[in-house]
Amino acid sequence: MSEQEDELEDRVCRACHQTYRYPIRKSSATRSHCETCANLPPSVRSTLEKLTKRVTQLTSRVEKLESGRQ
Ligand SMILES: [Zn+2]
Repeated sequence: MSEQEDELEDRVCRACHQTYRYPIRKSSATRSHCETCANLPPSVRSTLEKLTKRVTQLTSRVEKLESGRQ
């Protein structure tokens, strides 16, 4: 079995929630982080992840509230 390296996927960065393509040669992006965040110090990245998770939760909560109001 040979895995195709060239097959690009659209992925969402877990730290900044940006959409990026993966894998790109010479890019330091990983499965869960875009190139920018992959280069951040791990402590900064994990803080960003927590904040992004929180924002995602709050966003879906607000969306639910707004849809319930109509
Ligand atoms: Zn990112």
